[in-house]
Amino acid sequence: MTGDGTRAVRAGLPAVEAYQPPMPPPVLAAHYHLPGDPAEAPFGYGRENNPTWVALERAIAELESPGPEDGARALVFPSGMAAISATLLSLTRPGDSVVLPSDGYQIWPRLRQRAEERGVRTHTAPTGGNGQLAALRAARERGERVRLLWLETPSNPGLDVCDIARLAREAHAQGALVAVDNTLATPLGQRPLELGADLSVASGTKALNGHGDVLLGYVAARDPELVDEIRQWRTVLGAIPGPLEAWLAHRGLATLQLRVARQAENALAVARALAARPEVTGLRHPGLPEDRDHALAARQMRFFGCVVSFTLPDREHAERFLAALRLVDDATSFGGVRSTAERRGRWGGDAVPEGFVRLSVGIEDPDDLVADIRRALDAAAP
Ligand SMILES: *Cc1c(COP(=O)(O)O)cnc(C)c1O
Repeated sequence: MTGDGTRAVRAGLPAVEAYQPPMPPPVLAAHYHLPGDPAEAPFGYGRENNPTWVALERAIAELESPGPEDGARALVFPSGMAAISATLLSLTRPGDSVVLPSDGYQIWPRLRQRAEERGVRTHTAPTGGNGQLAALRAARERGERVRLLWLETPSNPGLDVCDIARLAREAHAQGALVAVDNTLATPLGQRPLELGADLSVASGTKALNGHGDVLLGYVAARDPELVDEIRQWRTVLGAIPGPLEAWLAHRGLATLQLRVARQAENALAVARALAARPEVTGLRHPGLPEDRDHALAARQMRFFGCVVSFTLPDREHAERFLAALRLVDDATSFGGVRSTAERRGRWGGDAVPEGFVRLSVGIEDPDDLVADIRRALDAAAP
């Protein structure tokens, strides 16, 4: 198999053809000419399918698979939450149980409530430690049918890591499916399907697109029945991505390997600099050799991601730090080429201290970033 950079630049593209552009332009169509039997038509109506999605879906499936013969397929959505909710709600029925992360993306409690309103029993467990194994076993002992185990690793924003292969074995032994939120790692950093998961689901809004200009989500799976079930949900609920957004995200994939590698390298440099500061506590980055999850992360990840999280003594200290940064914008989201940071407590959704900062490291020169962060820490000191 070729290397990640080589795969990324050609992922999802058709074979070269004389006098054709290197990448097919976006297809803006609400409907297609449709003679005869619509069941035979690859493209009939724009809510059902679009050639620009198909190209991006091929690209994502290729990157989420260990090899081209793997048979994984992907579906794209207009946001990460559209992909996550379509997966969770289309694959569960009243009476099913699901085990969800207690420390996952901040919208989870509200989505969990929607699942419960539909008669799905939900349990939550933290990403770190053995909470998920315990939750699976407890559900089995109560005689519940666990349909789905949902993992988010590394978790956002706490950066805990869980063992996908081990949890997948345990979940499969009791007949449950395993979905992994792969947003933070991207398919170049981690391939959940190869590690035994049934579904890799992500927000493409973050590092996958990487330019802070597109919202997107996707799900990738090998089992065609699962893919069809989720595709039908997308068609019926109508949450579909715009062709232009899909095209922009596909265009950006050509540089995914460069960005992911540079961002991971920069994040490690930033984490090392933060580790040397006495006012910094709770420093987390899975690539940091002293991080409590580094050994596990090194077994299942190939790049450790662009996020570094840490805690400053209090809210005011963190606000002074963020205001003093010049190369790092105070903004939410992560994974972009420009570094951003925010005090996560301002949203109220995460169980984090007031001084908790989530820093997303971009592709700037590492020396400049480290110097800016050191200077801002000096400026923020009381
Ligand atoms: C941002 C994010 C989501 C939601 O994605 P959107 O594109 O904003 O809908 C889901 N999971 C994780 C881990 C995220 O960081």
